[in-house]
Amino acid sequence: MNIQRLLPGLTGIAFLVVIPVLPVPPFWITVLNNIGLASLVTIGLVLLTGVGGLTSFGQAAFCGFGAYTTAVLATNYGISPWLTLPLSVIVGGVVAMPLGLITVRLSGHFLPLGTIAWGLSLYYLFGKIDMLGRYDGITGIPPIELAGYRFLSDGAIYYLIWFFVIAVAIGARNLLDSRTGRGIRALRGGGQAAEAFGVNIVRAKLIVFVFAAVVAALSGWLYAHMQRNVNPTPFGLSMGIEYLLMAVVGGSGHVWGAIFGSGLVIILKELLQRFLPSLIGTTTNFEMIVFGILLVVILQLARDGLWPFILKILPKRPPKPIPTSNQKLPKRTLALAGSPLIKVEKARKAFGGLVAVNDVSFEVPAGRIVGLIGPNGAGKSTTFNLITGIASLTSGSVFYQGQRLSGDSPRHIARHGIARTFQHAKILPDMSVLENVALGAHLRGSAGVFKSFLHVERDEEATLLAEAAHQLERVGLGEYANRPAGDLALGQIRILEIARALAADPTVLLLDEPAAGLRHGEKQELANLLKKLREEGVAVLLVEHDMGFVMGLVDHLVVLDFGTLIAEGKPAEVRKHPAVIAAYLGGAA
Ligand code: ADP
Ligand code: MG
Repeated sequence: MNIQRLLPGLTGIAFLVVIPVLPVPPFWITVLNNIGLASLVTIGLVLLTGVGGLTSFGQAAFCGFGAYTTAVLATNYGISPWLTLPLSVIVGGVVAMPLGLITVRLSGHFLPLGTIAWGLSLYYLFGKIDMLGRYDGITGIPPIELAGYRFLSDGAIYYLIWFFVIAVAIGARNLLDSRTGRGIRALRGGGQAAEAFGVNIVRAKLIVFVFAAVVAALSGWLYAHMQRNVNPTPFGLSMGIEYLLMAVVGGSGHVWGAIFGSGLVIILKELLQRFLPSLIGTTTNFEMIVFGILLVVILQLARDGLWPFILKILPKRPPKPIPTSNQKLPKRTLALAGSPLIKVEKARKAFGGLVAVNDVSFEVPAGRIVGLIGPNGAGKSTTFNLITGIASLTSGSVFYQGQRLSGDSPRHIARHGIARTFQHAKILPDMSVLENVALGAHLRGSAGVFKSFLHVERDEEATLLAEAAHQLERVGLGEYANRPAGDLALGQIRILEIARALAADPTVLLLDEPAAGLRHGEKQELANLLKKLREEGVAVLLVEHDMGFVMGLVDHLVVLDFGTLIAEGKPAEVRKHPAVIAAYLGGAA
């Protein structure tokens, strides 16, 4: 472990530990407790909203499930809070599953609307149930006890709250910094590239949804035993909005920003509640107006919240070393050169009245490079999408080694080792070049949420990252590994996509205009790489406009025009074909 990397965190923790020992007024300890409780919810929102892109106004309701579960069990049945802790958290998670399954399928503004709907209805549910004391709530909740010590005072429960905050924050960071986390972080860009490499997008969304609910329930459990009574008010929609505000203010994509945002909003609220009435002379909830303005200003001036500014002030952490690993990932055995891998049979795709791909049939054998050419709009990219499952066939079929692929989802198709690049590059600009490539190796690892949360999958993770580093070296981008992918030039991004596809240990490589934007020397290198892959037995389907590049490289050429296959064969023959000359090559032939 690199001490220099840990220093800021350790300083922060040391600071938190000494605060109650210092002569701080008790009022501020209470405020810090509230910040800690809110931070738990907000860290969940960072993963859900900031990283996953799923806006939720309803998180306070999950606090309610945590709080009421322990309140009922501890008061009515005398169950120890330590036993109700897992139960509270489980209830939060179990409620989140069906809600999540419905909610994450909503898109656009329906998603936040959906969260408002259940946020509201759960609040009223808490207030209508007799067992939960209706709107009066439940009182007389016992304090938490540990080895005879009762966490009664604010100064005592302070340590418990912040222990959980730090643990959850570290776990959340671990989770993001893992195989599962890369899938979650890929949600923001729409997730199409991640899906093409085997990430289960719906599952990734559900993971963050349940995670956010579980940590909110944990916050509720702590709240119930700190406050010693619960009623529906803190679990309503307005608290849900406040939590979202905290996440946005802090910096919706940053775990530590969640704590910062919670602190800022809660302290501001305390100060406003104290000083606004004496300034304005009324006791109305003016702080909500101030918050509203604050939110608008922050969204205008700092879309990523305030944490990025704090990061600029903090001393820069040294970059992570590129992991090395002695273990090698298993490699697929490639089929005999010349044996058919992909077979496209009368594939047809209609977009309304437009037939983009018109009953096209061709094969891509192992150890061969097949060129797919044709003018713009000929249907080349759509053909790629039909093979990889991103678009569904209107009719016809696609086979892999005789097995029908049509109808399978992109992530299932990826399992056969069918890897692709996109004509319009789909990378995650904020993620490092190395991690972008590691996304390609998703199916070669297996560690899930729990292992990632605890960081006990480090061996596997190192192997995946080492493989990504190897592929980056192979395509000549090694020196950029730690840079954000968004820093790369367009040509380099295309090469990055090839490295990502190679990290999947492909049997078939589908490259959509990989040489666009490359300089002459870079094209030469790319051609050499593709020849080497061919020698190894990989099948390549190549869409490219640079005829010099295509002609010198491919074994077989397929020509599309207006969705129809007009010629195919050896490049030298095809270029002489009258239909091809007429439709496409023209003077270039
Ligand atoms: P190419 O890659 O050969 O340039 P494409 O496969 O991208 O061509 O497009 C083929 C045709 O299908 C074009 O006319 C394009 O406008 C149309 N098309 C592609 N995708 C869609 C879509 N999602 N919806 C409607 N039309 C589409
Ligand atoms: Mg295209």
